[in-house]
Amino acid sequence: MKIALIAHDKKKNELVNFVLAYKTVFEKHELYATGTTGEQVIEKVGVPVHRFRSGPHGGDQQIGAMIAEQEMDIVIFFRDPLTAQPHEPDVSALLRLCDVYKIPLATNIAAAEILIHGLDRGDFQWREIVK
Ligand code: PGA
Repeated sequence: MKIALIAHDKKKNELVNFVLAYKTVFEKHELYATGTTGEQVIEKVGVPVHRFRSGPHGGDQQIGAMIAEQEMDIVIFFRDPLTAQPHEPDVSALLRLCDVYKIPLATNIAAAEILIHGLDRGDFQWREIVK
């Protein structure tokens, strides 16, 4: 499965620790991330990640483009709901595309836990069929 990882600045540590905690699950999949998030995951977790541009420089849109091409299976996006983002329209567009294409999406750690356990159990095999 192709998994997108994105975290706003105040959520980056949480995401890195999350990926570290489930490293054995994540390393069985193809990881993609926005620039800075990807850099931190590579450095602190030690798994390969395909890095796009930083979110404010188009990274969210690049991930959105993959979703529109049915090339992304899961999105884990730890949003910071308490800080205004200069690229808020890109964030909304990405979340919208997840709904358009029915992509499993977690925007916080509680939902991401459920998603990752489901992924490990094979609950998302249907993604192979819908493509
Ligand atoms: P970043 O982008 O990983 O490059 O910081 C995330 C975002 O702010 O959308």
